[in-house]
Amino acid sequence: MMIKNILTNKCPKCSKGKIFKESNIYFNFNRPKMHENCPNCGFKYQKEPGFFFGAMYVSYGLTVAQGITTFLIASPFFEERFDLRIIAIIALVLVLLSSFNMRISRILWIYFFKKL
Ligand SMILES: [Zn+2]
Repeated sequence: MMIKNILTNKCPKCSKGKIFKESNIYFNFNRPKMHENCPNCGFKYQKEPGFFFGAMYVSYGLTVAQGITTFLIASPFFEERFDLRIIAIIALVLVLLSSFNMRISRILWIYFFKKL
């Protein structure tokens, strides 16, 4: 199950080895540590130097989607459409999700290019 493997930080090739060394990839504000190769099958995660530059666009897309989703969920609770408190809630949600986005965007990037 690919989505489960992505969400559980698993190697795209063997589904056993981990990509990030840390076990908590969701709310972990420490500097992320990645394996260079899969500890189980040796699959190379970073294809070339700067490979993960493109993952920033994935992260940006996720952030925008989460911001819009948060707005749509939060706005019915407020009378004004652009209540400043909604902005504060969106900012808080995005900060809380930022560590997750950073890691999941790299994992997604690895999965996009796993055939190379
Ligand atoms: Zn592997």
